[in-house]
Amino acid sequence: MEVIFLGPPGSGKGTQAQKLHEEEGIPQISTGDMLRRAVRMGTPLGREAGGYMERGALVPDGVMVKLIRERIGEPDCAGGFILDGFPRNRAQAEALEEVLGEGERDSLLALHLEVPREEILRRLAGRLTCQVCGAVYPPRDPAICEVCGGPLYQREDDRRETLERRLEVYQKNTAPLIEYYRKRGRLVSVPAVGTPEEVHRRVREALGAVKAR
Ligand code: AMP
Repeated sequence: MEVIFLGPPGSGKGTQAQKLHEEEGIPQISTGDMLRRAVRMGTPLGREAGGYMERGALVPDGVMVKLIRERIGEPDCAGGFILDGFPRNRAQAEALEEVLGEGERDSLLALHLEVPREEILRRLAGRLTCQVCGAVYPPRDPAICEVCGGPLYQREDDRRETLERRLEVYQKNTAPLIEYYRKRGRLVSVPAVGTPEEVHRRVREALGAVKAR
């Protein structure tokens, strides 16, 4: 199973990718988490990516494709993987196809999490993230992560101006991938409103329906 989660910031890609990972036992590859870790550790990748992330811009494709190529090449990805945050534009989607072998390319599925814009803005205003495990919480939840007990903080790029920029970048660069995968018969759309459990159930049903085709 090779699954890509597509959707704007705040659509629940990270949450849904995590749930699927727990259930299926295949790796969840979150490029945003990988980059944030690199920034925290001050690695060369982190130093290169940090400025783009702060502005809500995309990190250059060359950097991202190299990162993904290396990660997907690791042994734990042999049985499939869940991509959360990659590809973000057409060039990355094409590069991904090149990186994948023939069989994997044909079983690739793009799960599009559909959320109305007003709901996205409401969700992102004040969302908090666990510093330790990356779990995400709605505004006003307690300051401690329910999963691991780590402290919660507001992601730098979840602040207002950057957020608007990220939504613009999504519309311009990433949203066209919905059509890209639809044309190739690889798109599954899932309404991503309701509780995370409800959305997860729809994701499962959608994947089941595709497998049964
Ligand atoms: P995310 O956690 O997926 O929202 O990613 C946070 C930030 O990391 C984005 O706003 C980008 O600056 C950067 N980023 C993550 N994934 C990618 C990607 N595939 N291509 C370019 N930039 C990315």
